[in-house]
Amino acid sequence: MGGQVRDNLLRVLERMEKAALRVGRRPEEVRLVGATKGVDVDRIAEAVESGLEIVGENYVQEALRKREVLGDRVRWHMIGHLQRNKARHAVGLFEMIHSVDSLKLAQELQKRAAKEGREVEVLLQVNLSGEETKSGVAPEGVQELAEAISEMPNLRLKGLMTMPPYFEDPDGARPYFQALRRLRDELQRRGLPVEELSMGMSADFEVAIEEGATLVRVGTAIFGQRRP
Ligand SMILES: *Cc1c(COP(=O)(O)O)cnc(C)c1O
Repeated sequence: MGGQVRDNLLRVLERMEKAALRVGRRPEEVRLVGATKGVDVDRIAEAVESGLEIVGENYVQEALRKREVLGDRVRWHMIGHLQRNKARHAVGLFEMIHSVDSLKLAQELQKRAAKEGREVEVLLQVNLSGEETKSGVAPEGVQELAEAISEMPNLRLKGLMTMPPYFEDPDGARPYFQALRRLRDELQRRGLPVEELSMGMSADFEVAIEEGATLVRVGTAIFGQRRP
């Protein structure tokens, strides 16, 4: 359907703006990351031509393929779980990695980034719900990992990311967004350079913005249902 992606994108941007204004935030404080796993390049290109500035991919191989076509017309973020053996590709591909959740992964990224003479922006993924199926560092481990990463010369620690459990009612996610923000504020008080909060998806991005999100990762609301 021609124009559907564009219409959806504009609607999402409008809803983001309204959510920010509702709580007295400046809309420019919140950036949209289009979650594009499983979305073909034509539809991504339509979104980019309609104003999408950042895409978030979940798989390195898929991102490499799409990057061949889309190139630098858009900025590339990694939002999915990253395996250590993909770190080399990841530092060459992505401006920001939202999903760093272990010291070993951070060390591997640092090593690879140094080798390639690059800098990579990093968010720590935090598992606030304790669900075993979710990746992410436990809240108790965040400070230590953040301090370690902040000393790695080729990684730029920028903030935190989380994925709350699924709730029928988006308000169910609110306490998780509040918890991530408190964790960020606590790290800031300890002098760590963490500004970004990557939180909120199609079902709950407005709640996330009300609670301080600076990056929302939205797929379905822009690109429609994914094939299973
Ligand atoms: C798929 C995905 C999203 C977007 O989910 P939607 O519900 O389709 O908006 C956000 N973050 C991550 C990590 C994802 O894998």
